[in-house]
Amino acid sequence: MADVVSSEKRSEMMAGIRGKDTGIEIQMRRALHARGFRYRLHAKDLPGKPDIVLPKYNAVVMVNGCFWHGHDCNLFRLPATNREKWRRKLDRNRQRDSENLVRLNEAGWRVIEVWECAVRGVADVEWNDVAEAVDEWIHSDSGNATVRGT
Ligand SMILES: [Zn+2]
Repeated sequence: MADVVSSEKRSEMMAGIRGKDTGIEIQMRRALHARGFRYRLHAKDLPGKPDIVLPKYNAVVMVNGCFWHGHDCNLFRLPATNREKWRRKLDRNRQRDSENLVRLNEAGWRVIEVWECAVRGVADVEWNDVAEAVDEWIHSDSGNATVRGT
């Protein structure tokens, strides 16, 4: 029997991935931890349950998967089937992300978004560059920032 997964089932499976800890998020946590940062994870009391929260610095680090967050980059590709459904869903995700960003800023948090395309498949040395950039931003007085690939 062919191993066929219905598109509905596939959607459920893919939806299950959303919100769980992703590999790149865990790598980012480790990198920050190694640099001496201590943080809260998935703060349920903040808009969008941000991944990594550093109260001491009023800083939030978001690690965004390019597919789920509908990033305008080389990693993003709309699935071949149910394109309209996916487009609407990912548009909603993007809309929600920008609303959460505004709400976080209004509550006094500054946010750095680290996109998957900046760190996916890169060597350790480049990971260190990204961690260094995030480290500097956390210690700075800068507002929102973005780290992305191409
Ligand atoms: Zn991207």
